Amino acid sequence: MKLIYTNENRIMVLNVKNVLMSHGLDVVLNNEFASSASGGLAPFDTWPEVWLLNNDDFDKAKKVIDLIALESNLDNWHCKNCQEENNQSFDFCWNCHAENT
Ligand SMILES: [Zn+2]
Repeated sequence: MKLIYTNENRIMVLNVKNVLMSHGLDVVLNNEFASSASGGLAPFDTWPEVWLLNNDDFDKAKKVIDLIALESNLDNWHCKNCQEENNQSFDFCWNCHAENT
């Protein structure tokens, strides 16, 4: 089993997991809910993680993740509620606080 992806943004991690699964790769999430119970742990230790079950899939999974990262870096998103443009790193609209869905 290999750690393939981690990010402080849980939405990004879930997105990566879903895309990897849609490519037929077996993955599991770790630390998904750790941040609420992190106590004295360093913040980095509580980031949600995507683990690849089959090490042979590593190169394929890496390529998929590179593609996701490329797309998400390029694309700002538009709020469905107020049509405002938001930076891709925001989970919620800066203008009306609607969730990015
Ligand atoms: Zn909005």
